[in-house]
Amino acid sequence: MKPAHYVGGAFLEGGPTTFPLVDPVDGTVLGQVPEAARETVDDAVRAARGALEGPWREADRAAALRRIADGIEARFEEFVDAETGDTGKPRELAATVDIPRAIGNFRAYADLLYGRGERAYTTRIPGWSAGAGGEALNYTVRRPLGVVAVISPWNLPLLLLTWKVAPALAAGNAVVAKPSEETPSTATLLASVIDEAGLPAGAFNLVHGHGPGAAGEFLTGHPGVDAIAFTGESATGAAIMRNAADHVTPLSFELGGKNPALVFADADLDAAVDGTARSTFTHSGQICLCTERVYVQRPIFEEFVAALAERARALDGYGPMISAEHRDKVLSYYHLAQEEGATVVAGGGVPEFGDRRDRGFHVEPTVLTGLPEAARSVREEIFGPVCHVAPFDTEDEALRLANDSPYGLAATVWTRDLSRAHRVAPRVQAGIVWVNCWNLRDLRTPFGGVKASGIGREGGEHSLDFFSEPVNVCVQI
Ligand code: NAD
Repeated sequence: MKPAHYVGGAFLEGGPTTFPLVDPVDGTVLGQVPEAARETVDDAVRAARGALEGPWREADRAAALRRIADGIEARFEEFVDAETGDTGKPRELAATVDIPRAIGNFRAYADLLYGRGERAYTTRIPGWSAGAGGEALNYTVRRPLGVVAVISPWNLPLLLLTWKVAPALAAGNAVVAKPSEETPSTATLLASVIDEAGLPAGAFNLVHGHGPGAAGEFLTGHPGVDAIAFTGESATGAAIMRNAADHVTPLSFELGGKNPALVFADADLDAAVDGTARSTFTHSGQICLCTERVYVQRPIFEEFVAALAERARALDGYGPMISAEHRDKVLSYYHLAQEEGATVVAGGGVPEFGDRRDRGFHVEPTVLTGLPEAARSVREEIFGPVCHVAPFDTEDEALRLANDSPYGLAATVWTRDLSRAHRVAPRVQAGIVWVNCWNLRDLRTPFGGVKASGIGREGGEHSLDFFSEPVNVCVQI
């Protein structure tokens, strides 16, 4: 299916402006993507407003979400092909993570709606009242925010888009979504599934295009948008915040990270190496939760570094960076790290495959050591298959190193000492701390970052809380 806007229940192939969709595996042009004009964004916001005042208000939203989940499942292979085509990620990753999680996102919020429901949404507080006038019954109902803008990145395109669209729809909002310009395909398929699922026209709208000076900016600065849910870089979050400031639009932000792993000498070494290899190299490091800083207790430092480097060298079948531009950014950090004095223990350059992939955007899985903590390549998010490993001696030092970062998204702690795990985990400045595992997710738990890694939490009730407004009703009795 060719990328198309979906506005007010109709697919629009777009106007005169398009941009190329590039296969990151070998650099070939796969097709053209329409770039939404300001008028298209206006139309989408208007259509969303119309749906809020129309049949979407009365619709059985849980049933609608289930039909969307079933619709993605019915076209599973088509979704996997589209996600693999846009991102170049290994097919297995799309088939086991991206698309199943997108289905799971809709089912999870359908389940939550049944559990909490319109009625269970209501909190009743009978009895005492502080003001004059005696007893009252207070109850709080939640109503949708209205028109919600969803802006998503390219790394887990459908997973992250639906992670916001599902709860936004569940809470009764109408959505205008803008996926990353790099990955328009599964979002277009989603629009097609939503169309087939029979949601009222305008409940879900999709516009394609770039961010600055384009669809992203038109949408986030739009006076008709009641809330913005954004996942992407911290600097983009700051730009969106400035753009949304004039209308004081509420924001939910999932931003960048520079995630630490703390490996204590008492850890199961094989599990820690295995887990750190996964947390560093999965999707070639292009997951916001990926590890880029590893701190290892000194007695096992040398052994750990050697084993992790071995794992990096043995990696096979890994995917490319999303674009030539991103490949160049990651390589610039590989070079910067060396200028800053790093020892390159594994990787550090561009692999040679001897096939079509040599025209694509791959970089080598890389392990670095020897950098000072102040080095830019230790402080800034690279978003590639690379980590820097440094030694530490004490628990307090490990925590100090982990927390000395402008970011605070996710962390991993590897130890067999139960007391240490419980002592250390809550002191790490991050929204998510995994102990002896990585990326083990229960969709009901709070998900998000501290410091420059985000504002607010997603997941389960946390998302429903963001996407709805509590209204208190006080009745004197
Ligand atoms: P990005 O910030 O470049 O782009 C994300 C989206 O924002 C895209 O749709 C883009 O078109 C849009 N955009 C860009 N500039 C805009 C502007 N001025 N106004 C409105 N929209 C704009 O991010 P990316 O490169 O697509 O994704 C990688 C980044 O996302 C990394 O920093 C990564 O850590 C982060 N990320 C965070 C999480 C999380 O859950 N915290 C998850 C995945 C990715």
